[in-house]
Amino acid sequence: MARKTTTGDPRLDALAGGGPKRSPNVRALARFAANSDCQLATVGFAARIDFDKLLVGTEFEVPFGQSPFAFRRGDRFEDLLRKNDYDPLLGLFRDHLGFKVSDARVKNLRGGARNRRGMEKRAKQTEDEIRAIIQGSKSAPNLLDGAVLTREIAGVRSYFEADAIAAQFDGPIRAGEVKSFPTVDGQADPDKVGAAVAQVSIYILLLRELVARLGGDPEQAVSDEALIITPKNTGLQPTMCVRPVRAHVERARRILDSTPSATEIADSLPRKLPTFGSIADVSARESKRVDGARKLIEVIGNNYRPSCLAACGLSRMCRHRAHERGDPQVVGGSLERLVPGISSLDRVHKLAAGGRPKKEEAAVAEQLKRAATLRERYAK
Ligand code: SF4
Repeated sequence: MARKTTTGDPRLDALAGGGPKRSPNVRALARFAANSDCQLATVGFAARIDFDKLLVGTEFEVPFGQSPFAFRRGDRFEDLLRKNDYDPLLGLFRDHLGFKVSDARVKNLRGGARNRRGMEKRAKQTEDEIRAIIQGSKSAPNLLDGAVLTREIAGVRSYFEADAIAAQFDGPIRAGEVKSFPTVDGQADPDKVGAAVAQVSIYILLLRELVARLGGDPEQAVSDEALIITPKNTGLQPTMCVRPVRAHVERARRILDSTPSATEIADSLPRKLPTFGSIADVSARESKRVDGARKLIEVIGNNYRPSCLAACGLSRMCRHRAHERGDPQVVGGSLERLVPGISSLDRVHKLAAGGRPKKEEAAVAEQLKRAATLRERYAK
């Protein structure tokens, strides 16, 4: 009888080694999509490891996660939206999108067990409700709270609990995300809006795939406009902004479609790697944990970018290592693109000072020398 695995491959289970697990939500999926060009992030995602908790208690711990205050504010805001049979939320659809909401049918799929069986049940309920919507059934909901969407990721069927709400009022299904960060004078923190847009884009992708499986027309049935619902100013009065996210949805599709299977990922790993569990073990010596993480980065490979700092629990360690090596990535994407094929910032400096380039460095070296000459001339 085949051994039972949680990741789809016993070698990935062994590498996980009892390390901290991440919950299967759309936020995790959106973060994976943002870091999919990093080999270690791909392995960690396939092994279902929560990178935010790996280096807790070491000098490289990343203080991710919301403060208790932010959590409470988020809970209060969501409760407020559901008050009086979702009156405040329906009011947003009426005021911002012109929907007729007086007889809206609301279906709340939250509640029940949060284990795999509970998620499977909610995924089935979500499928039934979406089928009813696309078939135009009179009893179909106009508002669906707590849908669970599924997808094969790295060869394993995963369940994603959508914070978002899908609504349909004589038009395509809309997917939205509720966030508790404030929108002031129509403006909100661009990083937080970007993360919310990435999440809704994944909901849209998963919804479209579900519609296709049910025999509907995904493009017509699901809008590619994202609804971001936030409090207005510092209070809790809700507001909504609508963002076109077609390009985000397409990008997410390309990335998720090209994700290797759990077996392919496991095949690519050498034997005798430190386990994620040993790195996360707070009772172990800090130096041993840090060495373990370094070894994983070195053997599996990473792809540090400044944007990792907002998205990955290993970012402080990866940044430290990139600084040690003088990786051009530490200066960010636009500058990095100016020096393709040059292995380090030290090497950039040497070439700019007239160092002899290798064949593949010649074109960039010429530009660097010219830039250095100009800089000298104008610095005088
Ligand atoms: S911080 Fe490191 S492990 Fe995380 S995505 Fe960036 S390069 Fe990959």
